[in-house]
Amino acid sequence: ADLPRTVAGAAARHARVRPDRVAVECEGRTVSFRRLHLRSNRTAHALLAAGVGPGTRVAHLAADSEHTYDLLLACAKTGAVLVPVDPRLAPGEIGHVLRDSGCELLFVAPELRPVVERLRPAPPRLRTLVTVDASAPGGGPFRTWQAELPDIDPPAVVNPGLPLAQLYTSGTTGAPKGVVLSRRSFWAVHDLLARHRLDWLDWREDDRSLGVLPVHHVGGPWWFLQGFRVGATLVLARGFDARRILGLIRSGGVSVALLVPSMLQILLDEPAVTPADFRGLRKVVYGGAPIPEPLLTRCLEVMGCAFAQIYGLTETCASAVCLPPEDHVPGGPRLSAAGRPYPGVVVQAVDERGRPLPDGEVGELRISTPAVMEGYWRRPAATAEALVDGWLYTGDAGRVDADGYVYIQDRIKDMVLVAGENVYPAEVEHALRGHPSVADAAVTGVPDRLRGERVHAWVVPGPGGHPSPRELREFLRHRLADYKVPTTYGFVAELPRTASGKVLRRALRDRHRGG
Ligand code: ATP
Repeated sequence: ADLPRTVAGAAARHARVRPDRVAVECEGRTVSFRRLHLRSNRTAHALLAAGVGPGTRVAHLAADSEHTYDLLLACAKTGAVLVPVDPRLAPGEIGHVLRDSGCELLFVAPELRPVVERLRPAPPRLRTLVTVDASAPGGGPFRTWQAELPDIDPPAVVNPGLPLAQLYTSGTTGAPKGVVLSRRSFWAVHDLLARHRLDWLDWREDDRSLGVLPVHHVGGPWWFLQGFRVGATLVLARGFDARRILGLIRSGGVSVALLVPSMLQILLDEPAVTPADFRGLRKVVYGGAPIPEPLLTRCLEVMGCAFAQIYGLTETCASAVCLPPEDHVPGGPRLSAAGRPYPGVVVQAVDERGRPLPDGEVGELRISTPAVMEGYWRRPAATAEALVDGWLYTGDAGRVDADGYVYIQDRIKDMVLVAGENVYPAEVEHALRGHPSVADAAVTGVPDRLRGERVHAWVVPGPGGHPSPRELREFLRHRLADYKVPTTYGFVAELPRTASGKVLRRALRDRHRGG
């Protein structure tokens, strides 16, 4: 009930109340709450000594480790803004984020340091590079960099409206923009749930939470900070290795997890999984991409723990809508919903002119939430387009029913316009997946001389054999209106996906153009 108000306050309190409890565990190394607090104090002093102040951009380009969260806390303590960069990006993309963010310090993995040093033009404001290598003996250069500094609390920076992180949207749509999120944003939903005594996400201080989403995805820091607030342990699993994660779950090593749908699929596809494997798991929170209903039903049957779905964007600091555990009834009426807005959050479907639509009608979803971003970094025009009169326009098509449940149809940008008719790829993909020889499918629009666009399907054949385009067309004709049925088919071994498991339809469209 008595929740810490600030990230720095939480760190100090945990160091006092539960000094020896593990705060972060990574590859067998553990850091207690007390050590994490004292280390991040030192890091904060080192940042201050390097000239960092409120608003300074500090970038991180490495796989996540205990150092990542040390740095995040140090940013909270000094007012610096953490800019986590996906280490798998191509050099050109890394250059874009480092230049665009105007970062002055960079914490970089040893193998990526030369990549950064070769960037041309060099990021103009970058003046300090610190190598982070968590597996190095003694913690490596990062530890040495802050080791000599005092571990007393740095002078407090308390304004909760100050930004804490700047996350680049991975760009399933357009060029990556920096989404600026304040400390307040990260705990807004937690506060709303507490105020209304709702246990939708139900955090407990003895939780051991599985961290698989990287810090450069909003889910990573959001998930960590929820658990951190109550004193839970974060068990970092670098990368998604299904067998290793299943082993961790089997051995009771984690009690709660945040997963994206594709990870759930991979876990259940592991050979011989049984309900007994998941006995130690108390709660799974999932979201970030649409979940096929058959997959969700299988999760309920096999995993047998509490489930909560979340829907939101980087711009809403992860979750704005939640399907609480009580709606996860096998065969229940809500399984196709993304959830309900948290109390204090409003979601509406609107027409092209921003007028709210009647219950159940599909339009663009817009969200009003206290967790909303401050804006896109140095992009006033893009900010003004996304944030209008306090509403965040999501770019998602969806509907809200009379009971307030939100259903996501698809991304508006992915919609295919066939002779004036709207085709939502998700609906066609869902129908395709119902064919016994289809393991997975994605649908995109391709230019068509007569109808403007037509529907093209990308199909991953299932174990049942390779279906013919003709067979698929015949199958779909009974399930979909004519104009929605794909006219051409491409067969692929795998669909390109983003970190959160969304199909990269843009890459597929490019592939089509390239032949
Ligand atoms: P990435 O997913 O790789 O981070 P992105 O740039 O699209 O790419 P996000 O801001 O995380 O980044 O994506 C938000 C979008 O994800 C939403 O607009 C919506 O389309 C989709 N999404 C998130 N949660 C759900 C959900 N529970 N159900 C359906 N779609 C979802």
